[in-house]
Amino acid sequence: FDMFVLAFVERLFRPTFRKDDFVLGKKLGEGSFGVVYRASLSKKRASDDGEYVLKKATEYGAVEIWMNERVRRACGNSCADFVYGFLEKSSKKGPEYWLLWKYEGESTLAGLLQSKDFPYNVETIILGKVQDLPRGIERENRIIQTIMRQLLFALDGLHSTGIVHRDVKPQNIIFSEGSRAFKIIDLGAAADLRVGINYIPKEFLLDPRYAAPEQYIMSTQTPSAPSAPVAAALSPVLWQMNLPDRFDIYSIGLIFLQMAFPSLRSDSNLIQFNRQLKRCEYDLTAWRKLVEPRASPDLRRGFELVDLDGGIGWELLTSMVRYKARQRISAKAALAHPYFDRQGLLALSVMQ
Ligand code: ADP
Ligand code: MG
Repeated sequence: FDMFVLAFVERLFRPTFRKDDFVLGKKLGEGSFGVVYRASLSKKRASDDGEYVLKKATEYGAVEIWMNERVRRACGNSCADFVYGFLEKSSKKGPEYWLLWKYEGESTLAGLLQSKDFPYNVETIILGKVQDLPRGIERENRIIQTIMRQLLFALDGLHSTGIVHRDVKPQNIIFSEGSRAFKIIDLGAAADLRVGINYIPKEFLLDPRYAAPEQYIMSTQTPSAPSAPVAAALSPVLWQMNLPDRFDIYSIGLIFLQMAFPSLRSDSNLIQFNRQLKRCEYDLTAWRKLVEPRASPDLRRGFELVDLDGGIGWELLTSMVRYKARQRISAKAALAHPYFDRQGLLALSVMQ
């Protein structure tokens, strides 16, 4: 009850917006559930500072607003800075929801990963180059450690709030120039199990490139959303039983893999990798045995990187990318994994 009163009061004192307040800029994205634009205010307000991102969404926008409001209050640093959400109009096509965020910057992890200079391009934007190590896998590993720590930190925030993202992928990770850290965006497919919101309709397609093999997060024993009060009482138990957060961990594991192995960064190679892994029954160690003997120099370099420091990176990777959700490490446990526990990291963490 308090939570709703707080939410209401907080909202009363925040600026409100409507359609005519905005001038739309460049289109940033378009999915089946909405269109995303860069936007600015048509008439500058006294409190206004700068640029926004505006999403026009279909009926699913209502849930996305709800998720963003919740994240904003509970774990604001995990996700892009949400400003406001409202119902604009109901057309023949159904309701149209508008969602507004602060513009965080131009770089998604997807864009950064596609550059030949990855991960040094990230080192530059996070730290402005300060490393004394020569270029090579050790330095690359340190940068990847920093990125992984930021991603797990953001994800742990969401999971501790009771939210599963379900669409974690490089396209949904933005580098926030203001906080000099990666944040998660796009809560359009997220589920909040503690309050019983939201169960995506069955026909909703998860991104097959990054989705864990279980596909649907809740087991078939919990086919529909219970009403809110019942869910609030039950869902911590459901959470424990089903470990729905481990769906996101699998996706983060694939991102780790792509960062460490340049040859797996392209879509086509990731899809091929997924096929191979499936044939290996999602056993990463079996996959390694399959491909390592005939590995390209690029692939071999990836294994070298994860094998640094006694193979601690490979250990973390294999504890994320596993067939059974319950055998995957949690975001919180991953943050405490010895992969992140190295002297050289101190220099990086001081900067954050
Ligand atoms: P969808 O995937 O449903 O089209 P997203 O919320 O993922 O919508 O946004 C689409 C794209 O817009 C992102 O991949 C990113 O490039 C950009 N974007 C979204 N939110 C922000 C933000 N707060 N700051 C800067 N860019 C953003
Ligand atoms: Mg997206």
